[in-house]
Amino acid sequence: MTTPRTEWDVIVVGGGSAGLSAALILGRSRRRALVIDDDHPRNAVAAHMHGVLGRDHTPPLDLLAAGRAELTRYDVAVESGAVASAALVDGDEPGFEVVLDSGERHTARRMLVATGLVDELPDIPGLAEQFGRGVVLCPYCDGWEVRDRRVAVIAAATLDTFQAQLMRQLTTEVVFHTNGATLPDRARTELEARGIAIEEREVAGVDAEGGAVRGIRLADGTANPADVVFVASRPAPRNAVLRDLRARTMRHSGVDWVLVDDDGRTSVRGLYAAGNVVSAKSSVPWAMASGSQAGIAINADLIDEDVRLAVAARG
Ligand SMILES: Cc1cc2nc3c(=O)[nH]c(=O)nc-3n(C[C@H](O)[C@H](O)[C@H](O)COP(=O)(O)OP(=O)(O)OC[C@H]3O[C@@H](n4cnc5c(N)ncnc54)[C@H](O)[C@@H]3O)c2cc1C
Repeated sequence: MTTPRTEWDVIVVGGGSAGLSAALILGRSRRRALVIDDDHPRNAVAAHMHGVLGRDHTPPLDLLAAGRAELTRYDVAVESGAVASAALVDGDEPGFEVVLDSGERHTARRMLVATGLVDELPDIPGLAEQFGRGVVLCPYCDGWEVRDRRVAVIAAATLDTFQAQLMRQLTTEVVFHTNGATLPDRARTELEARGIAIEEREVAGVDAEGGAVRGIRLADGTANPADVVFVASRPAPRNAVLRDLRARTMRHSGVDWVLVDDDGRTSVRGLYAAGNVVSAKSSVPWAMASGSQAGIAINADLIDEDVRLAVAARG
């Protein structure tokens, strides 16, 4: 039985909440782990993160800096850079090689991809400029801060009204903008029943002044005042590395998601994925849990391999 020579037990691609949580578990299991991160976590645009126990209202980058500092206790290296490609290394046991943008190469026995996603916003003037401040996605992340304020919800193509109903829990002043689309009767009844205003005229832009959202401008020139705008993004998972390695995907709501089991195993032996690269859930605690669980599964997988190799070595 041969096994590829590798520098690392595990390479973790992506050092956000999911990747660093996995690295913490791996470091504490005396695994030699390398985290490679290009420093664009999804919530970097937000001033504070919320709903994270023990860290509520903390700047998101402070959490990641604290996580990196904790890893220095263990045999974990964190390197800045972007993984440009990945390949399988031949052998009886799984093995991986990654190439960074810089041309640097690393090999490992197992690999975890925790590269997150990019939020693609509707093409509405003024929206992207305010993203993470006056334009937000997630009522659990940013809803409390605008309780009792004037909230505009711009519908996604699916005309899903749930985001508006969630915000109605926090304020009585919610306007649901269909952006020119006609609302189905049932959705209209449900919104009206809870006192949510419906605006079916086309949206022309988001108005802001002094860095703060002032409202929604409609195509006919009407200005509808609002203090914050909620939108639904289209998630674009940063999964090129997983696709290089031919991990199986499934199309869901127009997005190709890499399939993983509850422990983050992909369809490729030895290859794991966690966090927003495999699901759009907008939650740091969930990303941490999925990374931590993947770290535990990877260590168990390596122990299985260590046992096999030890038994084979005895002859
Ligand atoms: C505006 C906004 C506000 C939010 N607020 C909250 C909040 O208040 N509370 C909350 O719980 N959640 C919040 N979220 C959700 C939160 O951002 C995500 O749930 C969380 O960041 C997911 O963690 P992750 O580790 O999966 O991905 P990320 O945090 O995105 O980390 C992925 C990392 O991988 C790196 N990477 C990607 N590709 C490569 C590559 N090829 N090579 C090397 N590195 C790579 C990225 O640069 C990044 O550093 C918010 C999201 C947004 C958009």
